[in-house]
Amino acid sequence: MAAPKVAVVGAGVIGLSTALCIMETCPSCSVTILSDQFSPNTTSDVAAGMLIPHTYPGTPIHVQKQWFKETFAYLFAISNSAEASEAGIHLVSGWQVFKNTPEEELPFWSDVVLGFRLMSEAELQKFPQHRFGQAFMTLKCDCPPYLLWLEKRLKATGVQMYTRKVADLWELHSEYNVVVNCAGIGAQQLVGDKKLFPVRGQVLKVRAPWLKNFIRDGDGLTYIYPGIHRVTLGGTREKESWSLSPDPGTTKDIFDRCCSLEPSLRGAQDIKVKVGLRPSRWCVRLQREVLSQGGLKLPVVHNYGHGAGGFSMHRGTAKEAARLVGECIAALQGSSSRAKL
Ligand code: FAD
Repeated sequence: MAAPKVAVVGAGVIGLSTALCIMETCPSCSVTILSDQFSPNTTSDVAAGMLIPHTYPGTPIHVQKQWFKETFAYLFAISNSAEASEAGIHLVSGWQVFKNTPEEELPFWSDVVLGFRLMSEAELQKFPQHRFGQAFMTLKCDCPPYLLWLEKRLKATGVQMYTRKVADLWELHSEYNVVVNCAGIGAQQLVGDKKLFPVRGQVLKVRAPWLKNFIRDGDGLTYIYPGIHRVTLGGTREKESWSLSPDPGTTKDIFDRCCSLEPSLRGAQDIKVKVGLRPSRWCVRLQREVLSQGGLKLPVVHNYGHGAGGFSMHRGTAKEAARLVGECIAALQGSSSRAKL
């Protein structure tokens, strides 16, 4: 069989990282990315990019932990290299604070982030409305630079990228041997997945260079995440809302909530508002499927549905998707050599 031709549909953090992992595990593959949008116009560009996992109820915890560990180790190595600034990856320390003690004092990822500990009474004095807190150091991606860095690496390995909206994965069967579906919320229409739904998120990106520590309310709704150039203030979680228009009332509400956690934010400047649709699902869809029509077959690998945690898990799920692509190619090679006998 000649160099296997693989199409990756989608150019958010999941599509780009999956294409990179495929090139790393199968350098003889010819990989093409097809996407109707590229950075800076994807959901991934809107994200805060913090590595703090959200739990997927339908995925075993040990699997989620493995995905997070792999992602953390990958980005930690970048943060510790000369590439860190271009890739927009940096370490950040801070606090997750709770109004009441959570049922689970030690989250499953507490031994993956660095220096996880419970907050001291002295630290909690900074948050008079909160009674319990966790302090740790994690990684943050500045999302548009990270996506551009991934694109640059892909181009350097010979991956082609084309702007194209795919209406049906089957339309790719005559051009490619394997198709990888990383369409994010677009997968709802692309493969008719009724279990996938949008969770709208609105965030503010502000200039507040004096803020160095992250602060996250344990309910996950209000957060302050300092990046290299801007601080992300969040947020909202609106299930089944498809609106991409910023809502001015929500902007004020987010700003007020963040100022009550960190009063110095009243001096923040240059407020920009962004909206994105988290591709949410009971579990990430990470599996092989074989499409067939009229006796012809097209192996597909799905990798979508990362909800609120695409950055936290991307490298782990990309590695698994690349492994599944390898299985598809091995199966194709097996059937083509059987056909020659
Ligand atoms: P996307 O980035 O949406 O990419 C999908 C790609 O598929 C796009 O390029 C799109 O154009 C393409 N596509 C879709 N349909 C088609 C089609 N039919 N044909 C061709 N191309 C198609 N996660 C974290 O881990 N940490 C955070 O701090 C964090 N903060 C967030 C804050 C907000 C406000 C939001 C909205 C999300 C946040 N997330 C965070 C979640 C994260 O953004 C997502 O999980 C992640 O971006 C999903 O990536 P994706 O590549 O699957 O989707």
